[in-house]
Amino acid sequence: MTLRIYDTAQRAKRVFEPQDPARITLYVCGPTPYNYAHIGNARPPIVFDVLRRVLASQYGASAIVYARNITDIEDKLITASLETGEPIAAIAQKFAKIYNDDAAALNVAPPTIEPWATAHVPEMIGMIEKLVRKKYAYVGKQGVWFAVGSMPDYGKLSGRKQEDNEAGARVEIDSDKRDPADFALWKFAKPGEPDDAIWDSPWGRGRPGWHVECSAMAAKHLGKTIDIHGGGVDLQFPHHENEIAQSECAHGQVMANYWMHNGFLDMGGEKMSKSLGNVVLVHDLLKAWPGEVVRFAMLSGHYRAALDWNEDLLKQAKTTLDRLYGALRRVWGEEGGDARDRGVLKALSDDLNTPEALAELSRLASEANTAADQKDHDAMANARANLLAAGALLGLLTKTPKDWEQGADADENARIDGLVQARVDARSARDWAEADRIRDALAAEGIEIMDGPSGSTWRRV
Ligand code: AMP
Ligand code: ZN
Repeated sequence: MTLRIYDTAQRAKRVFEPQDPARITLYVCGPTPYNYAHIGNARPPIVFDVLRRVLASQYGASAIVYARNITDIEDKLITASLETGEPIAAIAQKFAKIYNDDAAALNVAPPTIEPWATAHVPEMIGMIEKLVRKKYAYVGKQGVWFAVGSMPDYGKLSGRKQEDNEAGARVEIDSDKRDPADFALWKFAKPGEPDDAIWDSPWGRGRPGWHVECSAMAAKHLGKTIDIHGGGVDLQFPHHENEIAQSECAHGQVMANYWMHNGFLDMGGEKMSKSLGNVVLVHDLLKAWPGEVVRFAMLSGHYRAALDWNEDLLKQAKTTLDRLYGALRRVWGEEGGDARDRGVLKALSDDLNTPEALAELSRLASEANTAADQKDHDAMANARANLLAAGALLGLLTKTPKDWEQGADADENARIDGLVQARVDARSARDWAEADRIRDALAAEGIEIMDGPSGSTWRRV
């Protein structure tokens, strides 16, 4: 199926054509692991995980080379280290692990490659040397700067004109930039900065700028031209603009053939961000809700649109998933069907139209219910296969209906199974009072017994 994606650089939906269908390269800017991530930060990993699943369905999973970096050289990590007295590496390792564990709970598969900035400083220095040699960069008193005026098409991604950049740039009193829009490739160490944030370089001790970290890591692991580069819309300028400037001036070729940007997650009408304080941490959300509920809520809006995050969104996601799993339960025993329905793939192939894809998933659930009502076993088997294949594209319906409805605590489930059986036995013995007592006791725990033709089952409500 033809995949179309909206390319920010061309400002149009374009048919996706990989350079090499056997090796499709995708780079997404990853987290600075200095603290817990908020749910807005989880939008890029979830969105690009869906993209990767769609690409994998077309080109094969092993053809997709997906790099998502860890920005473990960054001012926020230095601040966190100075505040807590902990080494930067310890903070970064702790929060990168939490980030990855939380991503796993959201059914986000790990990237193929997870490059850490600290492991690529020589590559960054190599790239800066090239830029200095080609006169795209100059050495100042505070660092090495990229001269935006040296690149005729600087600003092409965001559509900013050179004059806008100058007008928009803050006037930095002590800066020795030649142009306020120039940006740092290498920052010389300042007094008081921790030793573990300082590296040697041909120009003096210091650290690389954030933008050059991504340029160097993308080139090393994916090549000088990658297929798709992604990230949040706030990264379009200056981060991605500057990645383009560095990579294209160093290599003399296009950095990425497609640029994709997800919109913001808002809360209370404003962008969710730590500085505004309107944040919900992924880590906290996952204590209150199953990962699939959070993922479903995230995918309920189109990735390029702003999405307002609130409790109702989560409740609705939970209700819908309960319905989907309820349908799946009714056809669960019917294996060996064919997954021929293409509705979800078709929706996702149109620039990741996840709202449409979720509607298609609900349609498949209705088909499963109809097939089950009619006891049409062939149709039930096909409905099962369709639901599972479509769910896999979205990273949903990855649990068994039993695990979804009952939870994964084996001891607890065995206890409840025992009580449900005791009720069945009481009913057989016509001890209605005892049967009702057990039902009521379970109901008080939030457990609903469902009596059906093949016996009694239960679920948490
Ligand atoms: P930051 O921690 O601000 O560097 O952001 C890490 C990633 O999360 C970047 O790709 C941002 O674009 C993305 N991001 C941050 N805040 C939001 C938000 N409210 N909605 C969507 N994406 C966000
Ligand atoms: Zn980046």
